[in-house]
Amino acid sequence: MTRADIYLDNNATTPCDPRVLEAMLPFFGQVYGNPANGLHKQGRLAAQGVEEARERVASLLGAAPAEIVFTAGATESNNLAIQGIARAAARHGRRRIVTSAVEHKSVLLPCQKLAAEGFEVMVLPVDDRGIVSLDAAEQVINEDTALVSVQAANNEVGSLQPVAEISEIARQYGALIHCDAAQAVGKIPLDVHEWGVDLLSLSAHKLYGPKGIGALYVRGGPGALPLEPVYVGGGQERGIRPGTLNVPAIVGFGKACEIALGQVVQEAAYLTTLRDDFERDLLSRVETLRINGDRERRLPNTSSITFPGVDADALLLNVPHLMLGTGSACTSRTIEPSHVLQAMGISRQDASSTIRVSIGRFNTAEELAIAAESLAEAYYRLLQA
Ligand code: PMP
Repeated sequence: MTRADIYLDNNATTPCDPRVLEAMLPFFGQVYGNPANGLHKQGRLAAQGVEEARERVASLLGAAPAEIVFTAGATESNNLAIQGIARAAARHGRRRIVTSAVEHKSVLLPCQKLAAEGFEVMVLPVDDRGIVSLDAAEQVINEDTALVSVQAANNEVGSLQPVAEISEIARQYGALIHCDAAQAVGKIPLDVHEWGVDLLSLSAHKLYGPKGIGALYVRGGPGALPLEPVYVGGGQERGIRPGTLNVPAIVGFGKACEIALGQVVQEAAYLTTLRDDFERDLLSRVETLRINGDRERRLPNTSSITFPGVDADALLLNVPHLMLGTGSACTSRTIEPSHVLQAMGISRQDASSTIRVSIGRFNTAEELAIAAESLAEAYYRLLQA
């Protein structure tokens, strides 16, 4: 009997919510105007769609609509925040950038690029749960620091970072703080004022919206912070991110944020139950497995599991009905064990025996029960091979 496919890779991307798709459809058809053309009805309808979406995105973050800049996703938002602040700050003499060892490549690589240009980049270590060291933050953030960039939640192990505490330290020294919240938005309630961040990146496709659209929250709006655009061209998004807006995607992003705002608390509880039951089930079948990251301070949907002695790719090949991620995600197409797991002190060998289960809104308890059973079966099969 072939088993139905089960999608458990929701940190990589989520399926588009049918309500999001429905909200987008008119903007692929009847409403085709360019929102920059306010002089005719088509332009005005498109602009209305964009501005309504901007309000919905802002509401989810506790921000004001004027503080939202639409981008092509979190990769672009991270680049804009890091390169944009660094370039402006260099003129004021601040040359230190502080980030963490477990950031996404779209934070680490812009920082590396700035290091090659003469900025001083300091990388904060994490503990064995993947949580950034506040002591190290206290030691390296100083008056020379232009920007601190720390993620809200880790994409591989789900660890939640002490963003508010790090913001507090940054503020003492007049440094700006950016947070890559791509994995947190929609999964946990968050508020930019509570966290005290100046910039925050998010991406629609991580919260049941379309791919290729995201936003950068800029405290006070572009113009309030020393932020230079990466691209120059038209005056869209107040010149900080020029280019004709992707109206259908923006409308879908807005709808996804509105849905998230309405159900994030209940959904987090649902996902926590599914995840915790799954981990209990799996551990009762295979006692030697290890769950990585902090068991408490963790995204509700994420489970990073090491299967000692077995290659993660081989394990996944043995469960073809399960769609999961590995801990050795090869972003650059070279198989290099995860920098996140290694930063947590996990050996290369164990990192290459690690898989990531990331649960989503549309998963059921039954699917997770099948996943636990199948993974345990495949593991024992491979150990005996
Ligand atoms: N940051 C984090 C933490 C992520 O998980 C991802 C997506 N894998 C990104 C940034 C990049 O987001 P996008 O796909 O929207 O460019």
